[in-house]
Amino acid sequence: MSTQEDVISIKPHHFVDILRSLGSGKSKYEAHPYGHAQHIVAEHILRDRDVIFEIELGMDDICLPCKHNIDGICDDTIDTSFRPDAPSSKGEWNLMIDRRWCERLQLKPGDRMTARELCELLRDNTSDITDIYREVPADRVAERARKLKAGIEKFLD
Ligand code: SF4
Repeated sequence: MSTQEDVISIKPHHFVDILRSLGSGKSKYEAHPYGHAQHIVAEHILRDRDVIFEIELGMDDICLPCKHNIDGICDDTIDTSFRPDAPSSKGEWNLMIDRRWCERLQLKPGDRMTARELCELLRDNTSDITDIYREVPADRVAERARKLKAGIEKFLD
């Protein structure tokens, strides 16, 4: 967690990932072999939908304990077999996607809002996410969009 209690530093796409998992029917978040804190952050957010988020585009609270967080740089790679135009570096890919999310949602690093408010922003600005995931095949983006929409609805229910 952030040094300031009850403020969660988060990259936009990490919140989107949590919502997509929720939308795919996940009710329990498990620890990941990478050692990152997605399961801890997700449980925290679901316990308190009004927890304060601080937007981060570098290493957020999910990344902090991850084995791929090497001195503040993500050294992991992504699967480019289905998205050949994407950079293979996960750090570069994430930054590109997070910048697009920030542009779409009119956010910048350091902005603060509750998880509920960010979810409402997503609800109001995600009718079409093909441009954000333009390197990803359309059928996969459609599946992401479906799960994200379902996750947003569950979160705001
Ligand atoms: S973005 Fe990189 S450092 Fe952060 S959780 Fe994912 S793999 Fe780990």
